[in-house]
Amino acid sequence: MVNRQSTNRLEVKLTKQYSEQSGFSLDVDLHIAHTGVTALFGPSGSGKTTFLRCVAGLERSPQGTINLNNEIWQSRDFWLPTHQRPIGYVFQEASLFPHLTADENLQFAIKRANKSHAIITYDEVIALMNIEPILSQYPQQLSGGERQRVAIARALLIQPQLLLMDEPLAGLDDVLKQEILPYLEQLCRRCRIPILYVSHSLDEVIRLADYMVVLNKGKVVEQGETQNLLGTLGTSFSKYQDASVLISGTVEKQESQWTLSWMNFGSQHIVFKQGNEQLGDTVRLRVQSKDVSLSLSKHNDSSILNKLSVVVDDMEEDQQDPSMVMVRVLAESTPILARITSLSAHNLKLKKGQSLIAQIKSVAVLS
Ligand code: ADP
Ligand code: MG
Repeated sequence: MVNRQSTNRLEVKLTKQYSEQSGFSLDVDLHIAHTGVTALFGPSGSGKTTFLRCVAGLERSPQGTINLNNEIWQSRDFWLPTHQRPIGYVFQEASLFPHLTADENLQFAIKRANKSHAIITYDEVIALMNIEPILSQYPQQLSGGERQRVAIARALLIQPQLLLMDEPLAGLDDVLKQEILPYLEQLCRRCRIPILYVSHSLDEVIRLADYMVVLNKGKVVEQGETQNLLGTLGTSFSKYQDASVLISGTVEKQESQWTLSWMNFGSQHIVFKQGNEQLGDTVRLRVQSKDVSLSLSKHNDSSILNKLSVVVDDMEEDQQDPSMVMVRVLAESTPILARITSLSAHNLKLKKGQSLIAQIKSVAVLS
């Protein structure tokens, strides 16, 4: 009988110790929606790769259980071998066959693909990763970024039900990272294949992930929708000096005269510098807490364009720097963090439920 509660879910329960002496043990019991992009985020050595390798069946967790949409990959007395798991795997270093051209590498994946579950076509993959011009080249003729795009294309052509990506940008320098990030953004926004994306870079995670699972020393310490988690006090994120939130909405207006776009969310809007976005597009903006100030009234004599009506929800003193507090305000239901001085919080007599104006000095457009 189908258990409805566990359809469209990835359920992973794992324990893993490499050795008694190492001091590291992975102990994770994770139930996540099998949709969109889930980031596994955490510092180096926190067990991200171990987790991914166990999901792929490249590593054994003797007591582990893994279920994807009611299909058992691993249980106490069953083990589905890696090659039978419907996964695509992208490693930190692109692992293409050196004696095959880019296209021959892709054809190899197509032969292995799950024909009954075709999710994405060859043409779609080529267009998504923009690799048409380099198909006849051998891996050693390609740049690191191009190799990684071919490796991602190859993983997609397996027609996986789950794409596992282990720090796919970590081996690239900053210039190449910036070159490949837009492809990853496109992949994450447009592709119908759920992705588990491992990274220790908060910047990448903020750009790409809908849901975040934070690992530390082999344990899940925080998890939630990226937007909510980033806007919650008491998390590891709210303690970063550059703590930020994500605000997403729709482009409602553009004024070329000022090269500005207006993004609406709820009944409010944020103005930002016009880029490639079009009217009607969904955009995600990153707002850093240090760029948000709070005031009791809407001054019309300031140069700041973005003034949102908000309500104070919560406050947290900075443990490292008692002169500062982080204030969580809500613009309707959207959380925004403002890092202000404790003196300002005192002068404004901030308290939960108080109505204020949040002035936002600058925003970064993510996608
Ligand atoms: P992350 O990907 O988050 O950096 P890893 O999963 O690679 O973390 O590693 C978690 C811990 O397990 C680290 O302490 C690492 O040294 C150890 N480890 C990883 N792989 C092995 C292995 N094959 N044998 C022994 N210890 C390992
Ligand atoms: Mg790793």
